[in-house]
Amino acid sequence: MTSTTENTAGPATILSEDIEEIADLFSVTLTDTPASDEERAKKLDSPKFGTVFTDHMARISWRRDEGWVHRRVQKYGPLQLDPATAVLHYGQEIFEGLKAYQHADGSVWAFRPEENAARLARSAHRLALPALPVDDFMAACAVLVRTDRAWVPTAPDSSLYLRPFMFASEPFLGVRPADEVQFLVIASPSGAYFAGGVKPVSIWVDAEYHRAGPGGTGAAKCGGNYAASLLPQMEAAAKGFDQVCFLDGGSNVYLEELGGMNVFLVMDDGSVHTPELTGSILEGVTRSSILRLAADHGRDVVERRIPLTELVEGLKGGRVAEVFACGTAAVVTPVGRLAGETFDATVGDGQPGELTIAIRQELTDIQYGRTPDRHGWMRRLA
Ligand SMILES: *Cc1c(COP(=O)(O)O)cnc(C)c1O
Repeated sequence: MTSTTENTAGPATILSEDIEEIADLFSVTLTDTPASDEERAKKLDSPKFGTVFTDHMARISWRRDEGWVHRRVQKYGPLQLDPATAVLHYGQEIFEGLKAYQHADGSVWAFRPEENAARLARSAHRLALPALPVDDFMAACAVLVRTDRAWVPTAPDSSLYLRPFMFASEPFLGVRPADEVQFLVIASPSGAYFAGGVKPVSIWVDAEYHRAGPGGTGAAKCGGNYAASLLPQMEAAAKGFDQVCFLDGGSNVYLEELGGMNVFLVMDDGSVHTPELTGSILEGVTRSSILRLAADHGRDVVERRIPLTELVEGLKGGRVAEVFACGTAAVVTPVGRLAGETFDATVGDGQPGELTIAIRQELTDIQYGRTPDRHGWMRRLA
């Protein structure tokens, strides 16, 4: 049976009144084939990242002459697309990634979701897609989480990964911004990223390929950047490395970031350094949160251009004590080894550094509500 109801799930007004008003605009059509309690329990048992999805998805459509319309939550399932749909030809697509965390009292929270909403709007601008208002983004995430509340995992370090995305849905082969666009949010239960403890990764520093270039789309979270990173990632994996670090596309001298994570160095004087935003680096929410936490701890935090040669010499001479990568999925990932065509260096003793572990712990303690949220970063969704 399909039932269409006004959204009444969840406690009253736990986001701002403006957002709750938009949440009330969503029509919720429940699936007639929800997973049974047993099926869901089985799927929630240590799912592989990005392979399991909840019963529903949130969706808002856009047409140039109407704006954002038809806010709804509907059964999760395949989209039917005309073969001429613009995104399939010209890649006009952007996405976001954030998590919903269950706290000990059963409430469900997101970490700085307005930052993801604001970044989606910036990405939209670069890809000539329409800006989705921040409140619509927040409401879509909240209504989906409330509808699929039973899918928020409770095992340690697990969460409900939310994937908002937007694409050109107009069937048209002309090259111009599409007049029809879809925004969707899907949700995927995710287990601990590092099953069996945090393990350092090895990184190949690529001097041949770039993921982004000056004036390109590197600062936008768009699928095309990921497409550009797959071949270098594959070649690095064939050499035995876990991840690729890219250099800047202009001079091939300075560190930029990994395919999907920002990068940090901790120096022997305790200062914390990360590549400054150049327009071709993606501005991570985790990155900006770590800059704040490190500063709270009285560390010198420095955003600057970091030449690869300085990193290599620093690793050999001991000036660079720790290296880590960061992003929503893995939070903080220690780097144990860095290599390229002309060097191969171990970071410290190859084990996760002290600050790397401490920052990871503090960030996850905030996200899971185990420590006071002194920066007001958490938003209750359900
Ligand atoms: C998403 C992403 C990051 C990490 O951003 P977070 O907001 O911290 O998850 C870093 N680099 C790239 C290229 C990304 O796409």
